[in-house]
Amino acid sequence: MKTPVCDQCARETELCPSCSKKLAEGKITQLDFEVAQILCRINERYNISNASFFKALDLGKVVLILTREEVGLLIGKQGKVVSEISSALGKKVRIAQAGPDMKKTISDIISPARLLGINSVFHEGKEVCKVRIARTDLAHLPIDLGSLEKVLKSLLEGEVRLEIE
Ligand SMILES: [Zn+2]
Repeated sequence: MKTPVCDQCARETELCPSCSKKLAEGKITQLDFEVAQILCRINERYNISNASFFKALDLGKVVLILTREEVGLLIGKQGKVVSEISSALGKKVRIAQAGPDMKKTISDIISPARLLGINSVFHEGKEVCKVRIARTDLAHLPIDLGSLEKVLKSLLEGEVRLEIE
């Protein structure tokens, strides 16, 4: 299983020196560590050895887990895996695939709200990614706009503007 912490740390209660250093440098978070440990425990009962994630983000009411692989393994049959992660964390959990198709990733994150489109524009010499969402869909967003903007910024590693149309 690939997680932001090493295999040993996913099983132990304390971080090894190398993962502690990453934590101190902000490359990984306490939440990444926690999710890796939860997955490691789940792996003893359901075989999810091929599952992976590279980032877990706390969005307040929801924890978003980002994977580069198929989301299916982390969701599990009838949603068993995701519901176990959710009860271990005490929060709702969403799994999204962060792949080359950014449009799909953003759609996964905001579902059931629909993504109208994304476009890159240049503003004062900087590239800004405009993410367009229908006003009528605002009530269907799983997270608030402020959190969404933060997530998208960290995901796209750049400026993001939400456009509500
Ligand atoms: Zn470690």
